[in-house]
Formats: sequence, C-alpha cells, structure tokens
Amino acid sequence: MPESRTVALVTLGCARNEVDSEELAGRLEADGWKLVEDAEKADVAVVNTCGFVEAAKKDSVDALLEANDLKGHGRTQAVVAVGCMAERYGKELAESLPEADGVLGFDDYADISDRLQTILNGGIHAAHTPRDRRKLLPISPAERQEAGASVALPGHGPADLPEGVAPSSGPRAPLRRRLDGSPVASVKLASGCDRRCSFCAIPSFRGSFISRRPSDVLNETRWLAGQGVKEIMLVSENNTSYGKDLGDIRLLESLLPNLADVDGIERVRVSYLQPAEMRPGLIDVLTSTPKVVPYFDLSFQHSAPNVLRAMRRFGDTDRFLELLDTIRSKAPEAGVRSNFIVGFPGESESDLAELERFLNHARLDAIGVFGYSDEEGTEAATYGDKLDEDVVADRLARVSRLAEELVSQRADERVGATVRVLVESVESADEGDGVRGRAEHQAPETDGQVLLTSGEGLSVGRMVDAKVVGTEGVDLVAEPLPGSPEWSEEAGR
Ligand code: SF4
Repeated sequence: MPESRTVALVTLGCARNEVDSEELAGRLEADGWKLVEDAEKADVAVVNTCGFVEAAKKDSVDALLEANDLKGHGRTQAVVAVGCMAERYGKELAESLPEADGVLGFDDYADISDRLQTILNGGIHAAHTPRDRRKLLPISPAERQEAGASVALPGHGPADLPEGVAPSSGPRAPLRRRLDGSPVASVKLASGCDRRCSFCAIPSFRGSFISRRPSDVLNETRWLAGQGVKEIMLVSENNTSYGKDLGDIRLLESLLPNLADVDGIERVRVSYLQPAEMRPGLIDVLTSTPKVVPYFDLSFQHSAPNVLRAMRRFGDTDRFLELLDTIRSKAPEAGVRSNFIVGFPGESESDLAELERFLNHARLDAIGVFGYSDEEGTEAATYGDKLDEDVVADRLARVSRLAEELVSQRADERVGATVRVLVESVESADEGDGVRGRAEHQAPETDGQVLLTSGEGLSVGRMVDAKVVGTEGVDLVAEPLPGSPEWSEEAGR
C-alpha cells in the first residue's frame, strides 16, 4: 500500500451528507489514506453529491466537472462520486458523466478504500443499478434493527463494538474523522423515512426509517465532545420517529437529557421534526431541558389543506398556528424554521393566499422556499394538474420576497433580547468579517447568524451572552455582556 496516497472529500447537500463524509474520512484514514482539504492536492477527489432536487443535482454535477478539470494540472488523478445522487442514479450517472472515474453507492461505503484504490490504479468499478432501498428492510419497524445489521446505513457506524471493548468503557472513537475544526457537529440519529410525501424521492434511495441505538449516539457525542465540539445537531430524515423501531416512540425524550449531560457539550439541537408527529411530551423536553435548545425545524411545506392532501401530508393553517402557539406558550423565544414548496400541482391562487396568511401569522425565524419541480419516481410527477413553469417561478419570487421581509421582521422583534451565542468565527476588523456566532434559535448553515460588536477575549467555541442591538436582514447584531462567564474568563487574561 503506497504511503502517500491522498484523498479529498468535497461535500454538497445537507448536514446528513457532512456526517457521511466524516464517516468515509474515518474509514479511509483507518486504511492509511491521507486526508487533504484541497482536491488539487489529492490523488482522488471524492465528491459527496446531493440528489434532492434539480438545482442540487446540478451543483453536484458542476462539482464533479470542476474536480475533473484538476486532472492533468495538480495531483488529482481520479474523481469519484458518492452520496445521494450517486446512489439514486448509479449506472445512469456513470454513463452520462464519463468525467467521473467512479460512481459509488451506499453499499460501497464499507469498502471505500478498496474501491478508491481500484479506481486510482486505473481499474473499473462497475456502477450499481439503483434499487428501491425501502425494500431492504422489513415493513414492520420492530424487525428492522436485526435486518439493519446487513444493510449499508451511512453515518450509523458499525453496529458492533470492537472485540474487548465494553459498551460502558467510555468514549470509543467512532468510525468518523472530523473534516473541520468547527465547534458544531451533526450526529445521525436515524436514517430513512416511512412517510409517503408525494413530491419526495428521498425514501426510495435513503430507505425505510431505522434508528441508531441510543448508546451509539451517546458514544459518538462523547467522542465529539473530546474533539472540542460544543454543539451537536441531531440529524435524520425524520427525528420525531426516533425509537419507533426500538419499541419506544418516546426515545428522543429520554435520550436528549443524556446527550445534554455529556461533559463539554453546551448545546444540543434537534433538526427535522415532522409536524404531524409532534407530541406534547417532546415539546416539553425541547423547551425545558437545560442545554437542549428550544429550536423547532418544522417543515410545513404548505398550509392550504388541498395542497397538503395532494402532498400526502396533514394539517392546515390553523392547526399549524396552534402548534406554534403551544411551543411559544412554553418557550416564547423559541426558534422556528420551515420549508415550503410553491407551485405544487393544482395549487390555486387562493391556496397561495392561504399559505401567505400562514406565513404572515407564524413569526418564523427562517424560511426556505422552493418552486415545485417534478422528481422522477414520485407520485406528484404523475399528477395531471401541473402549473406552467413561469407561474411556478412567479409564485416562487412572490413568496420568497414575502419570506425575506417576514424573517427580517422576526429578527427585529429580537432587538433588546439577551441571546447566548456560540462563537464560530473570529476575524480581525481589517479582515472584514468580525466575530460571528449563532444564538439558540439559529441552526448552522440554514438560518441567520449573530454578528458580535466586540471580539475582545473571544475565541471560536466560546459561549457568550450578548444583547441584541440591531439586525441585518435575518442576522442579529449583538453586544457581548461583560458578566458572561466565558467572556470574562477570556477577557481577564
Ligand atoms: S417526511 Fe416527507 S419530505 Fe421528509 S423525507 Fe419523508 S417523505 Fe420526504
């Protein structure tokens, strides 16, 4: 095995892909590969693709082409696609994109090192023919854990502890290698989804819902804390379902306090919550557990009943507003983000007005708006009442404008409040960016940030209390409070 073989991972898409990239990095490093940041300096550039919607697929293809352009200039000899788009299209992608020297699916992850070596040696790895991964696990959730041992589940790590290691013997290094020094890390809680939203292709390539064992999630969190991580974000396609295949649909409620108790962890955040599965006990735990932030990532997708039913989803404007009222009655400052699809087949002008009514009342902190586009293999792609592309584009522009205005207004409402900020980047004033971090109501990447007016004594990974003194769109401008324990400790040096 040559000592010097190097690999770079280029990650697109969501936080779930980031976890998968770190797992791949862990596997590769364990097998002697040297991880480098720059694709240019790597023998193999691995692009972890996203296959969610058209725009994401285009970005993934662009990243593959960009890596391919490095061949012949720098050190790069091979470009390999992994991730959702690679899994979803397999052979078809390999045929249509000869610039990629390899297309690997989830089943290849356990042997990633061998696959890359084969490709680097000029060998050919035949890409897989995609299959519906829901069929790999039993229909009955209770039977899935056993079957799950033989199914590739990216980000779940190996199911068995290495020989001689007792589950209680402290943080065992998971099959993961951090790719950046960020004080924030995502942790996989589960994979797959059992819901049947008519626009969504994810379950067909991510498979049926399967939870990770709580001991694995806890163990990985302890390990991350040892790596300097302060905030963990639990990720999966649907965190509200956690535990249903382990015989306890309320497992998230009992796991969260244990995660928050891990030494060194200052903040636990739960992403993707399915509105139809929200329950009072979960809201209580999310709003009352120290270090678990009152943050609600609820993808409502729409609020007009007609559209929601066509999407195979539940709810309506008033039920969603009631849910938000319940949350805010327990945690008035709770952060809420949501995504919406506009221009769904059959969406009328009055449906759109109903969505706007919801948005105007919901006081959301962050809003993602997407224009509907057909995803092959989904039920919605077969619907007959499609809207013209320009109508979808107009509605997207209209709702995006409204969303931008509303999240700025919501940010304004926070002026005068005290927020606890996790510092994520510190640059000197002449570098231009100052000190940035995130408050409890802001998730990494997708939401706003806090710009601190002073960086004195602050370093990345510190928590500081700050008073909000202004806003810049969705971002808050805040002044650190001298009484803040970590701030004083550092500033006093
Ligand atoms: S809940 Fe719906 S939108 Fe989300 S992953 Fe499952 S099927 Fe897709």
